[in-house]
Amino acid sequence: MDGDAIPVGFRAGEMSARVLIAGAGPAGCAIAHRLARRVDVTHIDAGTRVDLACDGTLPAICDEPYRAAGAGGGLALWGGYCADPGDDLDRPEWLGLGPELRPCLTDALRWLGCKRHLAAPAVAQARGLAQPLALSGLEPRLWQFSPVGEIGDLPSVQDGTRVLKDTRLVSVELSADGRRITHAVIEGKDGTHRIETDAVFLATGAIENVRILLGPIRAAGARIPEATGRGLVEHGAFQVTGLRVPQGSWIERLHRRANDFGTGENALAMALAKSERERLGLMHDVLHPYRGPDGTMRLGVMSEQARNPANRVYLSGAQGDDGVHRARVDWGLSAEDRERMRRSAREMAMRVVSSGSGALESEGEVDVAPHPGAPVWCGHPTSTTPMGHDARSSVVDRDGRLHGLSNLHLAGSGTFPSAGWANPTLLIVALAFRQADRFLEDQAAPTGSSSASSIRSLNSLT
Ligand SMILES: Cc1cc2nc3c(=O)[nH]c(=O)nc-3n(C[C@H](O)[C@H](O)[C@H](O)COP(=O)(O)OP(=O)(O)OC[C@H]3O[C@@H](n4cnc5c(N)ncnc54)[C@H](O)[C@@H]3O)c2cc1C
Repeated sequence: MDGDAIPVGFRAGEMSARVLIAGAGPAGCAIAHRLARRVDVTHIDAGTRVDLACDGTLPAICDEPYRAAGAGGGLALWGGYCADPGDDLDRPEWLGLGPELRPCLTDALRWLGCKRHLAAPAVAQARGLAQPLALSGLEPRLWQFSPVGEIGDLPSVQDGTRVLKDTRLVSVELSADGRRITHAVIEGKDGTHRIETDAVFLATGAIENVRILLGPIRAAGARIPEATGRGLVEHGAFQVTGLRVPQGSWIERLHRRANDFGTGENALAMALAKSERERLGLMHDVLHPYRGPDGTMRLGVMSEQARNPANRVYLSGAQGDDGVHRARVDWGLSAEDRERMRRSAREMAMRVVSSGSGALESEGEVDVAPHPGAPVWCGHPTSTTPMGHDARSSVVDRDGRLHGLSNLHLAGSGTFPSAGWANPTLLIVALAFRQADRFLEDQAAPTGSSSASSIRSLNSLT
């Protein structure tokens, strides 16, 4: 360790970061944005130095450099298609957070650059889609499109935030009772540095967060909850086969009217109402029209996967040349997952057929096959460090704090207790906003559970 060197962005004698945020993807940037100017924030991102340190089954699914590692952003704020989780937040496993998250979802849409939040029924109405949708017995769902930003031009980079690029969190040191982080060890181009800190937000992605917990943080002596890394959830993307979408059908018109990517608007999809899903024993899957590689209209299904402890992230036992322990990812669809997804796709497709609009023509048995051009793995790893009240079955509390370490906060889709149907960034950002707000409330509380030094640092900045 080079104790003399001062990392770029620090002044001599100032080797402390009241709040350290590791990771500048959507989760980390959203936290920084909310905390900036209220607390002293240092925001680091491994950037080009990130080596996902994963030798598992993650396929290289994309040639965008910041995604090549397969884990998401990496120096980018990626909204892309943002999906509203809808009534998923009312599920009991969301611990009553739904009402608190809804205003944050609105803020998140604005922050991500989605032009406006059109309530799905209003979109359907305005674009002449309400009637065929009503006839089909399916409810509209909404995807919106947002631009991709890079660290440096992000809204998070503002007064009160020290940003260190190409710098990664490598380990931590704990208090004598093992219940708090006292120091973070970060490694940048100019060497390794030991930084005193009051709170750490780990926002390095749903896979890397697990690797850091099971690797360096456990090695520092922290007790890491048993559930860490277990129950990884992903989305299946399938094509509905056995049906043909004829030219000029209402499904095609729906696609054309709702899908307005050119102006960065939204895309519409359809789903069974919650009561119907529950009655039929199905999960939250959506049917969406899309244009296939050959130019013809198709129907696709984005499917929710059930949590399964066999799907997990863990340390492989191998170490890279840099001494970093590798993570391994085991993920697959169970026979039950596939069967439920098939039933769901058939149910939704047959409702479209029976709407009487002649929207689809049957070509045989309705079934599902992997979406052409889209892998079954969609790059939305979720629920690897889920929230919950019980430290035996969950990893963080409803505010994102690790069970057992009072000043380690986890952000990102890893904390989702259920994954829903797709595209997590909107919810990642909303959850991060709420988490940051809760952190500020705690800091401001006269006799809160937070450390006195954090309160001092907050007071000195306001
Ligand atoms: C091909 C692809 C397409 C996608 N499309 C969409 C989409 O259309 N809509 C959508 O909603 N979602 C999409 N996603 C998912 C989305 O990108 C992720 O859910 C999101 O980026 C996760 O945000 P995050 O901030 O939790 O993590 P990430 O975005 O993964 O960010 C983690 C950051 O941590 C940094 N980091 C890693 N290790 C360290 C360390 N030790 N120290 C410091 N920094 C570290 C990384 O460099 C990275 O910048 C897509 C993902 C992929 C792969």
